[in-house]
Amino acid sequence: MTSVDTAALLAWFDRAGRPLPWRGADVGAWEILLCEVMSQQTPVSRVEPVWREWLERWPGPAELAAAPAAEVIRMWGKLGYPRRALRLKECALAVVDRHGGRVPTDVDDLLALPGVGDYTARAVACFAHGQRVPVVDTNVRRVVARAVGGSAEAGPPSTRRDLSAVDALLPEDRDRAVAFSVALMELGALVCTARGPRCEDCPLASSCAWVAAGKPAWDGPRRRAQTFAGTDRQVRGLLLDVLRDGDGAADRVRLDAVWPDAVQRERALDSLVADGLMVRSGDLYSLPG
Ligand code: SF4
Repeated sequence: MTSVDTAALLAWFDRAGRPLPWRGADVGAWEILLCEVMSQQTPVSRVEPVWREWLERWPGPAELAAAPAAEVIRMWGKLGYPRRALRLKECALAVVDRHGGRVPTDVDDLLALPGVGDYTARAVACFAHGQRVPVVDTNVRRVVARAVGGSAEAGPPSTRRDLSAVDALLPEDRDRAVAFSVALMELGALVCTARGPRCEDCPLASSCAWVAAGKPAWDGPRRRAQTFAGTDRQVRGLLLDVLRDGDGAADRVRLDAVWPDAVQRERALDSLVADGLMVRSGDLYSLPG
């Protein structure tokens, strides 16, 4: 199997890696966990200000665990997928209750925390605790598919297969393995991007299996383009904005004004209540207490 030129990759990261605030040596495990959850499906530029505000308001899990849910939802702002805010509060509570306020180091303990999945658990174990574990996100899957597999796209995800593919590439040395994971992810974010890989600027170009194969087109299943306009997700966001921007409660007249389709609006309201992001009392809706 083709491997990845670790030395070239690490040298590239030294030159081109972004100095993101959560990459500093003094950043703690809770801060990293927070940023990893916020960064799921949300660009770094939107995460950074919210991450800073949250840490200023709630420096650690104990503070977040004690925060009112309404405040947590408000502070989530427009990061999207707001259930993550409530899950983070539950996660903070679990860290306090089960681990004395310290983010656990073991991947299985991390996986048992609310809102922490395969990617986040390993990202925290690796980036926060310096463990040699494979960290696989969309960017990493894409780089490995191209550089090692010779395929334009990664195809449908499979946790076991993806973890084992990346595990096989990790350098033996722990620190080097951590640096490798950070750099591989960054390469996928900056150079080996989904739409326009810049192979001419890539440290892996001379060993890349996809380049060597003549950049064959992808003939596997196509991913459906994600749309936002007109979706229930957009309607949920607009409805939640009414409560977030006001004093925390709104009647039907105010909520009805944000979206014309009554059926879709009702569906969005019901799902917000079911997710615990809103509370209904008669015709009045409010943020949870
Ligand atoms: Fe991706 Fe191109 Fe680099 Fe291969 S050479 S890893 S396709 S950017």
